[in-house]
Amino acid sequence: MRFESIASGSSGNCIYVGSDRTHLLMDVGISRKRTVEALRGIGLDMKDIDGIFITHEHVDHITGLPVIARNSDMPIYATKGTIDAVLRSSKCGNIDPARFVCVRPDQPVTVGDLKVNPMRISHDAADPVGYRIYEGNKKACVCTDLGCFTDYTAECLKDSDVLLLESNHDVNMLQVGHYPYMLKQRILGDRGHLSNASSGQLLSRVLNDHIRAIFLGHLSKENNIPELAFETVRVEIMFSESGYRAEELPIQVAKRSEPSALIEF
Ligand SMILES: [Zn+2]
Ligand SMILES: [Zn+2]
Repeated sequence: MRFESIASGSSGNCIYVGSDRTHLLMDVGISRKRTVEALRGIGLDMKDIDGIFITHEHVDHITGLPVIARNSDMPIYATKGTIDAVLRSSKCGNIDPARFVCVRPDQPVTVGDLKVNPMRISHDAADPVGYRIYEGNKKACVCTDLGCFTDYTAECLKDSDVLLLESNHDVNMLQVGHYPYMLKQRILGDRGHLSNASSGQLLSRVLNDHIRAIFLGHLSKENNIPELAFETVRVEIMFSESGYRAEELPIQVAKRSEPSALIEF
């Protein structure tokens, strides 16, 4: 399998996951132009993409969708609530509803030689999900935009070879920052975004011996710093009972506007 974070953060999200013959995008929250450029960097063209999976209807996950949908004919996978919300949005209203394929949490769909299983997440969107992607016994997960996690979340992320997990904000930076009170409450709430510390706690529960890459993703531009996210997550792992040494884990921060290295596993 192959995995690349094309863009990750509150200003736009797009992840490539593929096998030798099946190529998928998870969210298209950046322009078609930037998406095409990133794909070219790994030897692919938009016409190679076999499907787009949308996590939820927030603009940082669907900005590129109208133009991409107009220029290509791949299916767009999302939950019913997300499809309805996307079609209601002013920019995406022109997309032919027949382009969408409805998915449900914990009901895997097959695309080529990949299997994609949506997972429930807690976020202030219509019907948001994360995605687990499999080729045989290999597994990658994309899990961002969640205000809290449960045993279910940890169960879903276990055994990953590659994991992109939200590490959105530093709670102190958010609290002393200039965001209005209501927005702070929204981000901190159960349907908001995962803090660096919570991300580290969740990560501590899902580590395994075969994990090849851990991306900390969807960092807030205002309320986080990559080095702080990285250090906070490592401290949480150090103080957890996971038995793993944080400095030996392949943790990196997924960049806001630059593609990561292509991970092959
Ligand atoms: Zn969101
Ligand atoms: Zn988002």
